[in-house]
Amino acid sequence: MTRSRSKSIPDHEIIIVGGGICGAAVAYGLAARGCRVTLIDAPTRTNMASRANVGLIWCQSKFLHLPDYARWGFHSARLFPELTRELQKISGIEIPVHYRGGIIACLGEGEYDTRREYIENLGQVLDSYPGGMISRGELEKKLPHIKFGKEVSGAAWCEEDGIIEPLALLRAFKVAFSKLGGTFIETVAYEVQPRNGGFLVITEQGPLNCERVVLAAGLANRRLARFALPELPVYADKGQVLLVERMPYVMPIPVLGVSQTFGGTVIIGFRHEFSGHDTGIVPEDVATEGIWATRVWPELGKKRLIRAWSGLRVMPEDKQAIYSTLPGHPRAFLLNTHSAVTLAAAHARYLPDFIVGAGLPDVAASMTLKRFGYDCQL
Ligand SMILES: Cc1cc2nc3c(=O)[nH]c(=O)nc-3n(C[C@H](O)[C@H](O)[C@H](O)COP(=O)(O)OP(=O)(O)OC[C@H]3O[C@@H](n4cnc5c(N)ncnc54)[C@H](O)[C@@H]3O)c2cc1C
Repeated sequence: MTRSRSKSIPDHEIIIVGGGICGAAVAYGLAARGCRVTLIDAPTRTNMASRANVGLIWCQSKFLHLPDYARWGFHSARLFPELTRELQKISGIEIPVHYRGGIIACLGEGEYDTRREYIENLGQVLDSYPGGMISRGELEKKLPHIKFGKEVSGAAWCEEDGIIEPLALLRAFKVAFSKLGGTFIETVAYEVQPRNGGFLVITEQGPLNCERVVLAAGLANRRLARFALPELPVYADKGQVLLVERMPYVMPIPVLGVSQTFGGTVIIGFRHEFSGHDTGIVPEDVATEGIWATRVWPELGKKRLIRAWSGLRVMPEDKQAIYSTLPGHPRAFLLNTHSAVTLAAAHARYLPDFIVGAGLPDVAASMTLKRFGYDCQL
C-alpha cells in the first residue's frame, strides 16, 4: 500500500480509478508516454461491462443523429491494427481479432428498406461511408458456411467493423501497462476529495494522493464525481445475452446480435433495457433474443444454451461519449462511454494527451460536460 508522505507532495502523478476497458486503455496510453500512472480497480457488481461484452468493433449503427460520434468510431476502428500489433509486442499476449467488416442481418423486406434508409442517410451525413446494403446472395458469399433462415432478405455491410476477443484486449492493456512501469493497485475507491491543489482518493487500503485524477469507473463515476458534480448525466443500460455451445468456427465476419466468439461459442443478444441496477436474467427477455437468432441462423435452434448473463452499460443521456474535466477542477477528468471496446484504440491514442493538458481532437471536442450546461475547462 502507498501512503502519502506529506500534505504537499503527492505520491502519485496520475491516479486512474477504474481498470475496465476504458481506464486500462488510457492507463496504457499514458504509461507509453512516460507518465507515472497508478491504476486502481476492484470488481464491483454493477461495473462488469468490460467483462460481459461481445467484443465488436462496431461503427455502422452509431449514430445517425451524432455524426461526430460516428466519425470517432470509424477513426478508432482504423487505429486498431496498429494498437493490437503494439500491444501484442509489449505484453506478449496474443489478441484474437478480425478486421473483415460487420453485418446486420435483415428479416423481411420492411427491415431491409428501413436499414437501407438509415445507411443512406448515414452516408450523406458522413463524408464517405465504407459499406452499404447487400443482397441475400452477397451475404451468403461473405459467410458461405452459414445457412441463413428463409426470412433473411439481405443485410447491411460495413467493411470497417470487426471483432476482437475483449478479455484478451483488456489483459493485454494491463500487462503492457505494468511492463511500461505503471502501478496497479487492486482496491475499491470510496471517494475522491480535492486536496492541496491535487486529490485524495480514499480507498479500502487507505488514502492515496495525486496531482491528477481520472474517473473511469463506469457507473461508479456518479458517486466518485460527486465532489464536483451532484448529478452525472448517465444511466445504466442493461444488456442480457445468451451463450450457445461451441460450434465449428464459421463466422469470421460478425453478425450484430448473433456473433460467434473466437472459441466457437455464439453470443446472442442486442437488448437495451432501462431497469436501474437490476442485473438479473429475465427468461422471457432472453427468449425473445433466442427466437430472433434462430430466425437468422436456424441451426442455433438445435444447439444447447450453456450460459446467460447480463451487464450494465454506462449510457450518457444523449448517447454520446463523455470526456471532460469536472466543473471547477481542471485536473480531474471524467471518462464515460458505452462503446469502450470500439473506442479503445482512440482512447489509448488521444485521451492521454487530453489528461496531460492538451485538448481533445477536433472530432471529440464536443464530447465534454459543457454540452449538459456545466462550466468546465477543457
Ligand atoms: C452485453 C453487453 C455487450 C456489449 N458489447 C459491446 C461491443 O460489442 N462493443 C463495444 O464497443 N462495447 C460493448 N459493450 C459496452 C462496453 O462493454 C462498455 O462500453 C465498457 O465496458 C465500458 O467500459 P468502462 O471501463 O468505461 O466501464 P466498466 O466496464 O463498467 O468498467 C469499470 C471498471 O471500474 C471498476 N470500478 C468501479 N467502481 C470502482 C471503485 N469504486 N473502485 C475501484 N474500481 C472500481 C470496475 O471494477 C470495472 O473494472 C457491451 C456492453 C454489454 C453490457
